[in-house]
Amino acid sequence: MSWLSQKISKHLFKSCRSDKDPATESSLPQSVGKALGHLLESLGALSLPVESEDPESVQEKYDAWAEHVRDGNTSPGSGFKIPLPFKDRIDWNGLKKFVIRQRTGEKKFYIGNLKDLRKALWGFVSKLSRDINLENDFDKEMGNQLHRIREATRTEDVNELREEVLGAVESLSIVIDKRQDLQRDRLKHLGAQMRLMRKELADARHQLNLDPMTRLFNRSSFDETLSKVVSLSSVMGDPATLVMIDLDYFKSINDQFGHQAGDEVLLRVADLLVKTFPRKTDFVARYGGEELAVILQQDSEDVAKKLCDRFVKKLREEKIQFKGKQIQVTASLGVAELRFRESEDEWLSRADQALYVAKEEGRDRIIYADHEPVSA
Ligand code: GH3
Ligand code: MG
Ligand code: MG
Repeated sequence: MSWLSQKISKHLFKSCRSDKDPATESSLPQSVGKALGHLLESLGALSLPVESEDPESVQEKYDAWAEHVRDGNTSPGSGFKIPLPFKDRIDWNGLKKFVIRQRTGEKKFYIGNLKDLRKALWGFVSKLSRDINLENDFDKEMGNQLHRIREATRTEDVNELREEVLGAVESLSIVIDKRQDLQRDRLKHLGAQMRLMRKELADARHQLNLDPMTRLFNRSSFDETLSKVVSLSSVMGDPATLVMIDLDYFKSINDQFGHQAGDEVLLRVADLLVKTFPRKTDFVARYGGEELAVILQQDSEDVAKKLCDRFVKKLREEKIQFKGKQIQVTASLGVAELRFRESEDEWLSRADQALYVAKEEGRDRIIYADHEPVSA
């Protein structure tokens, strides 16, 4: 603690312990008053924007408080002028309220802005996904018009042929124009916003909620991330792979060793999972109960396979000690790589289905969706 802050805390402590009115209690050595005044002026000069208050008026308020603590001017909080004999007294309560109010306002404004930015970015990605689908509709429409021309060539009637072909050409040029407009629009926004989006997704891990027991991401974070990864991959064309993990015969571990032992096993498995999938792009979550999940952002099934094999092997070798007893556990895994234009529900249900097959086929194994069963 610096000399100045020690002095200020001592002073504040004294004023709080005093029997006199703490609002205006105590004198301050001139040097401390000066330093505090300077500190308040700096806070005012460097303050963040606050909603419905312009920066100059914020700075003026800080300056007024600086003058109050340094020169004994009127307290900006109460508006009263300190009478001459009490000139060296300070309105600590008013000052404290003012600083807290300002900082709360700054924080609110800052968080609000971040939220708006995030909302706008994700709105943009879902719009882009819709645009891509729209383009598919354009392709369909072009196909229809080409079909119309092909059909028209069969007619014997020249006028009919002419009318059909002209109509189709006109419709085609409208579709092509619209498509060009769409592409121009899209390119205009794409580059910079995509970079921001990637950063936001990487940062998301620090802001989302954690499961209190395992410290992995919780179910709602998982749902949110799954949907974002689907949006982003559909725009960027990146691969992504989902791994669903369910512990085998976990109920019998609880029954045999007790619920606490079950908890310990779950923690050790969570730990091993985080160690096996440690990269910034690996999102490890507790899906619910003894079911865990990993989303590998930007990775295809080949990469996932290597990591899943390692996890299953390590888990088999893990000897978990609990109150002198040794517990062993295995897991079943269902793995699915995101398909082109697949929704998050479809993706999740394919991984779930693969997990179900892993259980059906005897547990302690990895099954890849839409692939022949592969024994780990
Ligand atoms: P399976 O191989 O088919 O997955 O068998 P299982 O016994 O693992 O599956 P089941 O769904 O029958 O039982 C899961 C058990 O996991 C039941 C539940 O009490 C236990 N469980 C869920 N969450 C926790 C937890 O946080 N701690 C402990 N100790 N047990 C849990
Ligand atoms: Mg289980
Ligand atoms: Mg289960």
